[in-house]
Amino acid sequence: MNIIVCIKQVPGTTEIKIDPKTNTLVREGVKSIINPFDCYAVEEGVRLRERYGGKVTVITMGPPQAEEALRETISLGADEAILLSDRAFAGSDTWATSYVLSRAAAKIANYDLIICGKQTLDGDTAQVGPGVSEMLKIPFIAYVSKVEETKDKYIRVQRMVEEGYEVIEATLPAVITVVKEINVPRLPSLRGTMKSKSAKIPVWNAAEIGVEADRAGIPGSPTRVVKIFYPKRTHKSEIFQGTVEEQVSQLAERLEKIV
Ligand SMILES: Cc1cc2nc3c(=O)[nH]c(=O)nc-3n(C[C@H](O)[C@H](O)[C@H](O)COP(=O)(O)OP(=O)(O)OC[C@H]3O[C@@H](n4cnc5c(N)ncnc54)[C@H](O)[C@@H]3O)c2cc1C
Repeated sequence: MNIIVCIKQVPGTTEIKIDPKTNTLVREGVKSIINPFDCYAVEEGVRLRERYGGKVTVITMGPPQAEEALRETISLGADEAILLSDRAFAGSDTWATSYVLSRAAAKIANYDLIICGKQTLDGDTAQVGPGVSEMLKIPFIAYVSKVEETKDKYIRVQRMVEEGYEVIEATLPAVITVVKEINVPRLPSLRGTMKSKSAKIPVWNAAEIGVEADRAGIPGSPTRVVKIFYPKRTHKSEIFQGTVEEQVSQLAERLEKIV
């Protein structure tokens, strides 16, 4: 079973700063990590390869430093990794990102399954997985919490819904996005770490994957972030002082006034 896993490098902090002029994330001086949901995607890819054989190829569209994240996935058991990097990709929205990833998948060819995380920590849209499937015209299943079986070019999975799960079958190749309930990601092995240090990470640019100039980056992005703002605090918090009994009576007094 040949599997492509899509990962994204994101800022490893909850204190994300936005550049007020460009409305984009300030990445300088912020440590980057693999988007947490994508670690589950990598682990599931490796587990499926261990079960059915084949190969796990990890791809990311990002700047040159994203190579570090790809090396990490090799230490976690991926067979190979490819960086999609070109100035023409900068500023891509989810539509253009999905297009670039789908072009890379088309070049890799011969894949059975594409695994993405449910969503990212920074962009947070959950649009890229469905976007890739739409551009490749292959089935898509979101919120996968268990892969029950893949056999004879179909896959059967459990998909999380609010009050339980659904069992869904789709023909392969397909795209799935995974939730954290799917597995517990392993730690890097010593062998994997050694392999990751010497692994060759090819870099594919726009021309190599047949990306048309007006379909990536800002020209290929039909959406723009026009404004980003922090919500204004409209209320003040108050901390009661004293013993627990005193604090409870202060709270009761305050509630009585409201009622
Ligand atoms: C309206 C809009 C406008 C935007 N405009 C800009 C802009 O002008 N400039 C700018 O820098 N950014 C912009 N962005 C952010 C940019 O679109 C996202 O960084 C990117 O498209 C991925 O979207 P996401 O982070 O929401 O991923 P999600 O859809 O939440 O990610 C789901 C999964 O898709 C995969 N995935 C996501 N991104 C990648 C990737 N790069 N490589 C490989 N796999 C990936 C991962 O498996 C991930 O778990 C914009 C976003 C929106 C919604």
